[in-house]
Parts: sequence; C-alpha cells; structure tokens
Amino acid sequence: MNKNINFILNKAARCHNLDEEEILCILEETENLKRLFSIADKVRKKYLGDEVHLRALIEFSNYCKQNCLYCGLRRDNRCLTRYRIEPQEIIEWTKKAKDWGYKTIVLQSGEDPYYNTDKMTKIISNIKSLDVALTLSVGEKTFEEYKAYRDAGADRYLLRIETTNETLYNRLDPEMSLKNRMQCIENIKKLGYEVGSGIIVGLPGQTLESIAKDIIYLKSIPVDMAGIGPFIYNPSTPIEDTKSSFFELSLKVMAVLRLLMPDINIPATTAMETLESNGRLIALQSGANVVMPNATETIYRKHYEIYPGKICLADSPTYCRVCIENKIKSINRYVSTGKGFRVKQNEMYCKAN
Ligand code: SAH
Ligand code: SF4
Repeated sequence: MNKNINFILNKAARCHNLDEEEILCILEETENLKRLFSIADKVRKKYLGDEVHLRALIEFSNYCKQNCLYCGLRRDNRCLTRYRIEPQEIIEWTKKAKDWGYKTIVLQSGEDPYYNTDKMTKIISNIKSLDVALTLSVGEKTFEEYKAYRDAGADRYLLRIETTNETLYNRLDPEMSLKNRMQCIENIKKLGYEVGSGIIVGLPGQTLESIAKDIIYLKSIPVDMAGIGPFIYNPSTPIEDTKSSFFELSLKVMAVLRLLMPDINIPATTAMETLESNGRLIALQSGANVVMPNATETIYRKHYEIYPGKICLADSPTYCRVCIENKIKSINRYVSTGKGFRVKQNEMYCKAN
C-alpha cells in the first residue's frame, strides 16, 4: 500500500468522510487490502461492538413484473417455477421465525401485484402484533402504498439503488428509471422508515468510478442500512457473463461504507457466501454487523433463484438459525437480543475534513 492510501485510510477512520477521488483510490488498490479490512473492523467494533443482528429472510413470492436483465426472477425468465405464499401462511412462517429467536423479519419478493395494499397491510399488521421489527423488500411502489405499509407498522424498507449510473441503469433495468428509483428511496425516507439500500458490484459495464459515485450517493441519503452484493451471473438471463468473481471488490465497497458511515447496519450478504465459503464471516470481520439467514421453507428455496448457486438450498430454517449462531460464536461475536435498529452516533464523527 502506498503512503497516499495510508493517509486516506487514516483520514477515513478519523473523520468518516472522503471525497470521490479518495474513495476511488481505495477501490483501485489491489495490493494489501488487509489494512482496509482491519480498519473497517475496528470502526465497526468501536461504534457497534461485537453483537451481530440476525434478520430472518422470508422469500414469499418469486413472481416479478419487472425485467431486470441480471435477475433470475425477471418476468421473461421462463425457466423458473413460480410460487407465491398466501398471506396466512406468511404469517405462520413469521411466527415460527419468532419462535427460533429472530427479532427482525424481512419479507422479500419480486414485484408481485397479487399482494395488493389490502393483502400487504393485513400481513404487516399481523406480523407487527408479534412484537418483531419488520423490513419490507418488495420493490418500487407508489407513495400511497409505502404510506399504507408504514401506517400498518412496517419499520424498515430495503430498496437497493443497484447503480447510480444512468446509462448502466437504463441498459440493465428496462422499463424502470433511475429517477423513479431515487424518488422511491426519498419517499421511504420521508415516511420515517429506516432506509436500506445498496448496490450490485460487478455489473457488466460498471466502472470503479461509478461505484465511487454510488458510495457518495448512499452516504448522501444517508442510508440506515447498506447491502452490497457481488454480481453473480445467471445463465437464465440475457446479460453477458463477466466470468469474474466480485467477492473482493464487494468486500472493499462494504469496508469503505463502514468507514464512511460507522454506525449504520451493514449485512454480510448471502451473495458473498455464494462466491466464497465463509464469505459472511469474512464480511463480518471487514465491517459488517448483520446477517440475514434464510427462513423460507426448504421446498421453495430453490425457486427463489435470483442467481445460481445460492447457499443453504437444502437446509431447513431451524438448521440455518443454529448454524449461523455457531459460526458467529466461532469468530468471538455474539447474536444480539435486540431488534437492531440503527443507533445514530453522529456526535462521535469528527467535524473537520
Ligand atoms: N424485487 C425487489 C427485491 C428482490 S431482488 C427489488 O428488486 O428490490 C433483491 C436484490 O437481488 C436486488 O435488489 C438485486 O440487488 C439483487 N440481485 C438481482 N440479481 C442479482 C444477481 N445476478 N447477482 C447478485 N445480486 C442480484
Ligand atoms: Fe424483479 Fe427485483 Fe429481480 Fe428486478 S431485481 S427482476 S425487481 S426481483
């Protein structure tokens, strides 16, 4: 690592602020990344301690009206067996997740109009009566829909921006617009949700410059949670195969986000573990403080194929719960007993730049 990088890392660790050029400098660094990861780990420990928040991920429908070029759930993918879970069953799954000790439920799906506002609000209010925190990750909705979900009790919303590069966005997300995606994130924030967003790292045509801009965007919101996933090629999609692993680059992006936003929640993503065994543990030791174990019933898991090679396809939700806790303990961390809302600690940030 050259002197310049050391200077930038020290500044980030102290002030939690970098400009685009400095971020780019870190992203371009390939030699010795240990220092970046270890500083991000220290910042995580200083602000958030050793607890790890678990979020039970329930993938309740793989129908999607959108057609994102990179995603296996896209509307035009005919190779996928589609399923959707009825509201009452989603609530039953949630009860089980609560019994296994989860304090947060994440409901995720493709953009499936079957779940109209009535259905969604019924699901949300039933889940909220169980005294758990609830995150929704069901895509782009109108302000009124987001408001109805929020009024019914949803606490957090996860909507990745995917990329802030308009040309790339238009190419990869036909029929969608970056402007609308950004507006959705604004609306989510305005409604008082905890805002989760993030990007895919390694999209064909994506540059490090555009990733640096993405990072600046996430900080400008500012997000309460940032999920960074490496792009994984899905042969059932029309996108080109980049034939590379973006594990390390994703880890770098994640570590930089930790340096810039020391108190936010950052998940060690499933996609990271798909590319690297123990990828989630590596991420937890490079800035992450959250894991989202799969709480979807086993028979449906293989059909929620956003990308191939997803981990834990044959495992049961109970097995996943025990397995992840043991892994977390193996790196001297522990599972939180709280709901894991972001605790803002801005006063600890250095004012000077
Ligand atoms: N439909 C919702 C939520 C489900 S998709 C939405 O789009 O917001 C969840 C995430 O999967 C997306 O935000 C995207 O970042 C990620 N994803 C899709 N295809 C992927 C791929 N090929 N590799 C890695 N992540 C992918
Ligand atoms: Fe649908 Fe989300 Fe996949 Fe896009 S990323 S196709 S919106 S599930």
